[in-house]
Amino acid sequence: DSLEDVWIGTLLHNTYTLLQSEANLKGIQMALLMACDNPLLIANPNRIKQVLINLARNAMEAMIEQGGGTLTLALDSTDEHISITVKDTGPGIDASHLGRIFSPFYTTKKTGTGLGLYVCKRIIDEHNGTITVTTETGVGTTFEIKLPRNR
Ligand code: ADP
Ligand code: MG
Repeated sequence: DSLEDVWIGTLLHNTYTLLQSEANLKGIQMALLMACDNPLLIANPNRIKQVLINLARNAMEAMIEQGGGTLTLALDSTDEHISITVKDTGPGIDASHLGRIFSPFYTTKKTGTGLGLYVCKRIIDEHNGTITVTTETGVGTTFEIKLPRNR
């Protein structure tokens, strides 16, 4: 469980493949957008994968409430950082809740732990990155992870 060379495009593609059967069973479409080639970062691949799975599970759980939707994973990069977005077409997050979603034990689900986003934020912090959310009621939610390029 440590830092190693990680090809982020490959990691995203593998995560996409892993999630596809789960999405299909739930009536959720998936899309993968690669706007760059396969950037190499020094990172902990299992932890980054865990972040993506947590975000994707939340997205699917939100879309199931409304009978389906589309989950889009996307990768882009600049000289400075790489950007991964996890986008859903779910109900969105109410503005009054938005400030609390990264807090431990904050959940709106009957059987939720409220730890998924807290863990995501910790892992991204450990990689000196940022995680941000944009959301619109009735339209959907996008989480964006930015990780610095190791130079
Ligand atoms: P849990 O999934 O156990 O509830 P998380 O920390 O993963 O805990 O998420 C916290 C809360 O943030 C969720 O209960 C939900 O209210 C909200 N949330 C997270 N992701 C989304 C999303 N993609 N769409 C709508 N709400 C979301
Ligand atoms: Mg969760």
